[in-house]
Amino acid sequence: MQSTMMTRPLLLDDILERAARQYPDTEIVSNMPDKSRHRYTYRDFYKRARQLSQALVNAGLKREERVATLMWNHYAHLEAYFGIPGAGGVLHTLNLRLAPDDIAWIANHASDRFLIVDDVLLPLLEKFADKVNFERIFVVSLTDQAIPEGMESYEDFISEPADDFVYPDKDENDGCGMCYTSGTTGNPKGVLYSHRSTCLHSLVSALPDGMALSARDCVLPVVPMFHANAWGLPYSATLCGLKQVFPGPHMDAPSLLELFEEEKVNLAGGVPTIWMAIIEALEAEPQRWKLPKMRMLVGGSAVPESMIRRFDKFDLSIIQAWGMTETSPLASMARLKPAFDDADEDARYKQRATAGFAAPFVDVRIQDDDGNILPWNGEDVGEIQCSGPWITAKYFDLDKSEDKFTDDGWLRTGDIAAIDRHGYIRITDRTKDVIKSGGEWISSVQLENEIMAHDKVAEAAVIARPHPKWGERPLACVVKKSGADLTADEVMNFLRGRMEKWMLPEAVTFIDEVPRTSTGKFNKLGLRQQFEDWDWEAA
Ligand code: ADP
Repeated sequence: MQSTMMTRPLLLDDILERAARQYPDTEIVSNMPDKSRHRYTYRDFYKRARQLSQALVNAGLKREERVATLMWNHYAHLEAYFGIPGAGGVLHTLNLRLAPDDIAWIANHASDRFLIVDDVLLPLLEKFADKVNFERIFVVSLTDQAIPEGMESYEDFISEPADDFVYPDKDENDGCGMCYTSGTTGNPKGVLYSHRSTCLHSLVSALPDGMALSARDCVLPVVPMFHANAWGLPYSATLCGLKQVFPGPHMDAPSLLELFEEEKVNLAGGVPTIWMAIIEALEAEPQRWKLPKMRMLVGGSAVPESMIRRFDKFDLSIIQAWGMTETSPLASMARLKPAFDDADEDARYKQRATAGFAAPFVDVRIQDDDGNILPWNGEDVGEIQCSGPWITAKYFDLDKSEDKFTDDGWLRTGDIAAIDRHGYIRITDRTKDVIKSGGEWISSVQLENEIMAHDKVAEAAVIARPHPKWGERPLACVVKKSGADLTADEVMNFLRGRMEKWMLPEAVTFIDEVPRTSTGKFNKLGLRQQFEDWDWEAA
């Protein structure tokens, strides 16, 4: 029997409409290239996002056609987040940290029709302009430089009032946004989000045992808006009608700390690299910054427990999250369940240092190489797989991606994990980074976390190197804190007693910095190449 409920679709347009109606005076603040702050309200944002929608419709944009952005985090990018889907189009955020040829490949694969670009990123566009074919290019003036020949001003493009604009009809399963994985293995793969998946993701991630958002909060996405939808933060924030602060191109620790303090930001999200720089700045000058009580959403790679402890000393609480481009991206968050209310401090930290437990509507399971589904006992380790309404079921315009999905339709994440009896996921590695020593897996993530707890270590990445007896053994590549005096023996002695003997690195080598991917993660492939000819005997 049919229910009596209305079947109104879940659309981003409704998030925007409500935000403007209920919270017209809430502020949106953006740090500009010259560090002045652009300020306006939801009333202005709403007006301009709709003007963008109308201009795109008038320019002939058709349902689900892609509009690319090449932009930092700021108000105009937020307008694109809503204005492009409002027009029935798909917002395709181009990752400006990728190699220019890769950006061109991605824009062509997605058949992007128009491009919105920051004027400060025109030199980057220049590097691949001859390889792409955007019909029109709109330039956002963040500085006072002239708009190049053949391109148009974004301001002029959206200048027409849109009071009478009517959103084109759309289905909740229409595409609204698109991101490509960074493609550290093979070509990048496109993921197409829908209005429905984005609305549900925004709703669920705002729940009290998620980011716990309300209209009283002030959110700053450090995570780039060109990567995995900035973890959905702009959508969840607009849904809740809260103040949004954008860092513009300034992602360094002092600039961010200044924004946190002056704009009273109480939730910020970013990868561990960013937070490592922030904690070092805080520890170097503990009296300098007067921060509000903050929650830091940290994900993208494993968060060392030592980092959570260091932030707690400043009354800044890290919430670890796990996910990927394919999962919109939030799939789990490490909030403490009531079961840990009476647990001792170490046990609570251990739990917070996991990837957390699956969000409502997200199912997770772990599977071994033989296809067996493993129990949630905290011990058995296998590939983590997930399914849910904001998990992709395939890749955009790609025939051969079956190996990324199981026969029964689950996404194979390529992450190796154990799940404990409380449902908390402990990621031990990525499939391509695992270390198999004498038939047993050694967790590079666990080793790295232990090494990074040493107070003379700035960073550490552990990789597998072939070994004549054990197949593979772990090589620890350690970056010393600046000015620190540290030997390999000291690192090994520090680890003894903290880890099983067979899990200890076979050797410790010191490097100047850990190579990074375009999204700030350890580039272990690059590191393995760097140590391709590693010789245990000579070490
Ligand atoms: P890619 O780096 O492949 O472009 P994403 O940026 O979407 O893709 O990153 C997803 C990957 O990041 C996950 O598969 C996982 O390996 C890693 N990751 C994300 N969050 C965490 C976390 N909290 N702990 C460990 N690894 C994480």
